[in-house]
Amino acid sequence: MTDQHHPSPSPATVAVHAGRPGRRRGGAVNPPIPLNSTYVSQGEVPPGELAYARADTDAWHAFEDALAALEDAAERGIVFSSGMAAIAAVLSLVPDGGVLVLPRHAYQTTSGYADDLAARHGVAVRRVDIADTDAVVAALDGADLLLVESPTNPMLEVADLPALLSAARERGVRTAVDNTFATPLGQRPLGSGADLVLHSVSKFLAGHSDVILGAVVTNDPGLAARIRGHRTLHGAIAGPFEVWLALRGLRTFPLRFERACANAAELARRLAGHPGVAEVRHPSLPGDPGHVRASAHMDAYGAIVGVRPVSDGGAGSAAAADAVVGRCRLWVPATSLGGVESLIERRRRWGTESVTVPEDLLRLSVGVEDVEDLWADLDRALRPDTLGG
Ligand SMILES: *Cc1c(COP(=O)(O)O)cnc(C)c1O
Repeated sequence: MTDQHHPSPSPATVAVHAGRPGRRRGGAVNPPIPLNSTYVSQGEVPPGELAYARADTDAWHAFEDALAALEDAAERGIVFSSGMAAIAAVLSLVPDGGVLVLPRHAYQTTSGYADDLAARHGVAVRRVDIADTDAVVAALDGADLLLVESPTNPMLEVADLPALLSAARERGVRTAVDNTFATPLGQRPLGSGADLVLHSVSKFLAGHSDVILGAVVTNDPGLAARIRGHRTLHGAIAGPFEVWLALRGLRTFPLRFERACANAAELARRLAGHPGVAEVRHPSLPGDPGHVRASAHMDAYGAIVGVRPVSDGGAGSAAAADAVVGRCRLWVPATSLGGVESLIERRRRWGTESVTVPEDLLRLSVGVEDVEDLWADLDRALRPDTLGG
């Protein structure tokens, strides 16, 4: 299909067109929401034929095809009821007593899941600074799975993804990348040799803070069958309406992401010069530890920004950070990320967040509002002496 007359379309085009029903006169432009638990069938069910909707349903296919196209995956995607269900399926590849390599700043529930694997299945969990390539490579000896997050949540550390994936491949270690923060517009890890890519679809891909959903993609038919088999056994399946909403959200994902990333970069630049700010983290900033790496292998810097406000008692005051959140009018105080609306939260308000995350770190999920309105609200919230705050 890729020749000079029909070059392969860009992700912005793929997001709009993938997973549409075949064209025919009078046919629907969008897929329906099929509500079926069972399908007419008899005798042995050949692969690919529908029989019972826990195992497979046409309600998932349009979204699964569209996500696979965006991630350049050879196999149809595998949608799950949540990002955590997708992570649980991927972590099932680590055998009892096996070895898992995980970023020390992995998503907190992923980290909790790894604790559970350690306690109940004897899995050795090696927690690494994912930005320290030598340390990660040293941890790969005898490992069963390397699960990479980059940029990390909420510290925004950037891994040298191509280097880690090739080092793991050389050592025969299977790799999975949680691509929720970077999205397929930031990086497509299968192309750099990752075995599996997973998403919390709840975030940027669906994009409207109205669904919880997850997905896995891979090029490997054997791995796809195992992950799909895990989904069937555990029943962690997505509802037809949620999947339809996610596909609807995916249509505008490139537009939303482009705007959110531009807003984030502009806010990060202004925050870096704000008198009420002690530290800003965003890979777009030339002084950010992840900047050079992100510039080298990523197509976007992402829409999450980390901020530590100045406080009287020196750095690290949770109260000062809470006060900033309390003074926001436009920014919504809420967890999660990747929706059209901008959210702000102090991460350590969660007792389960890693203690190596500073107490006063605010995570900003930058939305698609007008950047001047976002700035006016933040600027005011960061100046405690302002009247009317
Ligand atoms: C939110 C999130 C998850 C978990 O996804 P859910 O859809 O909430 O289950 C996993 N990884 C990252 C990086 C996330 O941000």
